[in-house]
Amino acid sequence: MKSQDVRKQFLDFFESKGHLIVPSAPIVLKDDPTLMFNNSGMAQFKEYFLGLGTPKSNRIADTQKCLRVSGKHNDLEEVGIDTYHHTMFEMLGNWSFGDYFKKEAIHWAWELLTEVYKIPKDILYVSVFEGNPDENVPFDQEAWDIWKTLIDEDRIILGNKKDNFWEMGDQGPCGPCSEIHVDIRSAEEKALVSGKSLVNNDHPHVVEIWNNVFMEFNRKADGSLEKLPAQHVDTGMGFERLCMVLQGVQSNYDTDVFTPLIREIETITGTKYTIKAKDEAEEKVNIAIRVIADHVRAVAFAIADGQLPSNTGAGYVIRRILRRAIRYGFTFLNTKEPFIYRLVDTLSAQMGGSFPEIRSQKALCSNVIREEESSFLRTLDQGLVLLDAVINTNSGKIIDGKKAFELYDTYGFPIDLTALILSEKGLELDEKGFQEQLQLQKERSRAASKVTAGDWNVLVEDDVQEFVGYDRLKHNVKITKYRRV
Ligand code: ATP
Ligand code: MG
Ligand code: MG
Ligand code: MG
Repeated sequence: MKSQDVRKQFLDFFESKGHLIVPSAPIVLKDDPTLMFNNSGMAQFKEYFLGLGTPKSNRIADTQKCLRVSGKHNDLEEVGIDTYHHTMFEMLGNWSFGDYFKKEAIHWAWELLTEVYKIPKDILYVSVFEGNPDENVPFDQEAWDIWKTLIDEDRIILGNKKDNFWEMGDQGPCGPCSEIHVDIRSAEEKALVSGKSLVNNDHPHVVEIWNNVFMEFNRKADGSLEKLPAQHVDTGMGFERLCMVLQGVQSNYDTDVFTPLIREIETITGTKYTIKAKDEAEEKVNIAIRVIADHVRAVAFAIADGQLPSNTGAGYVIRRILRRAIRYGFTFLNTKEPFIYRLVDTLSAQMGGSFPEIRSQKALCSNVIREEESSFLRTLDQGLVLLDAVINTNSGKIIDGKKAFELYDTYGFPIDLTALILSEKGLELDEKGFQEQLQLQKERSRAASKVTAGDWNVLVEDDVQEFVGYDRLKHNVKITKYRRV
C-alpha cells in the first residue's frame, strides 16, 4: 500500500466514524511559550483539554507534522542511527473531546489496524497501565477488560508510569494510555530470542506504532487525582512506522516516504544505500544517507512554515539540524559542494499533495538551504586547514583541548568533527581541556548576560542545548550528547 493511501485510509476511516478532518497545524509554534515546535498531534488541541475553548467538533482526526528535536521530546541523536525515530514525522491522530472514551477508541484502533489495514493479529502487542499506588493512580482495569475481548491475554503487557501514564504537566488533565506495538522481526531474528516479551524497544524490530491516551483525571496542586467532569481521548500513530509495517519492510527508510529521497541522494553523491550493511564502512554511509533524507524534511518543512535558520531560538535548532546533515555528508559521503537543497524538488513532488506549503515555498526552501550549505562548507574547509596545522605542530598523540576549543569557538568548527578526524588519524582529543575552556566561555557569556553567540557557541537561552561531550558509542559513530541549559 502506497504511503498516500495509508494516510488517506486513516482519515477516511475516522471520517466514517463521525470525525471532522482538520489540517495539520504548523510545525513551528509562534505563540506557545512552553513549546518551540509542534511535537505531537495534541499540541494544537491542548486548550480544549484544559477547558479553555470549544473545538469545532467533539470528534476530530488529522495528520500532524511533528518535530522532536528540543525540550522534553528530543530524538535527534537517535535519528539516522536507528531506523524508526525521525526529527520530522507525521502523527496520525483521532480525538474525542468529552465524547467517546476507551471502548470506542480501542475497538476502532483494532478495527483499523486488523480489518482495514489487515495487519496480522499475531504480530501485535498492546500495553495497559499497571497502576501506581504510591502516586494514587489505579491500574487501568477498564482498558484491560476491553483489550481482553480482542487479543490474547499474553499479548497484553503491563506498562509503568513512564510509558503508560500521560500528564500534561505537574497539574492538569492526565490519564493512562494503551500503546500498540508491532513485532516485525524476521523468523531468523525471532529464533535468536525466545519467550521474552519484547515490547518497549528491546529490539529494533519491535516498535511502538500507536499511543491511545485516555484523559480521565485532573491532577490537583496537592498531587491528588480527581475524575474529570468530561473524559477525552487523544491518540497518536507514527505514520512512517505504520507505512513500514504495511509495506512489509523493516525500516522506515525502506518505505516510499523515504526511498525517492534516498535514490536522489545516491544519484547526486554516487554512493549506495544498502538495506543491510555488510561492514562498518557501509553502515556509516547508510547512517549518513538516513540522516540527510530525514533532516532535509525537517528543515524544509520548518522553512516552509516560516522558520529560517538563524543564530538564536528555534532558528538555531533548525540551523543545527541542517549542519548535522551537511557534516554527515561531508564526512561520510565526501560531499564538498552544496547538494541537500537539490532534494527539495523530490520532497515537494512527493509531499506537496498533502502539504501544499512545501510546494508553494519550494524555491524559498531550496535557496535558503543552498546558502546555508555554502557557508557551512566554507567553515568546514577552513577548519580542516586549521586543524591540519594544529596536528602538524603537535607533539605526541593527544591534541590540546584549548586548541580544539579555539577552532570550535573562533572558527565554528564542530568539536565532534574534530574528534572524528583525530581518531581517524590515530590521535586523541584532550576532552577535559576542551570542557574546561567551554565552561570558562560559558561563564563569560553568562556574565555578559544574554548575548547572541556565534555559530556552535553555547547560547544562554531556554531550550537550546549545550554540548556536554560524548556519552556513548554506537555503530562506531560517536554520538554527540547535549543537555538543556
Ligand atoms: P518511542 O517510545 O518510540 O520514542 P514515544 O512513546 O515517544 O515513541 P509518543 O509520544 O507516544 O511516542 O507518540 C505517538 C507515536 O508517534 C508513537 O507511537 C510513534 O509511532 C510515533 N513517534 C514518536 N516519536 C517518533 C519519532 N521521533 N519519529 C517517528 N515516529 C515517532
Ligand atoms: Mg520517544
Ligand atoms: Mg514510547
Ligand atoms: Mg508512546
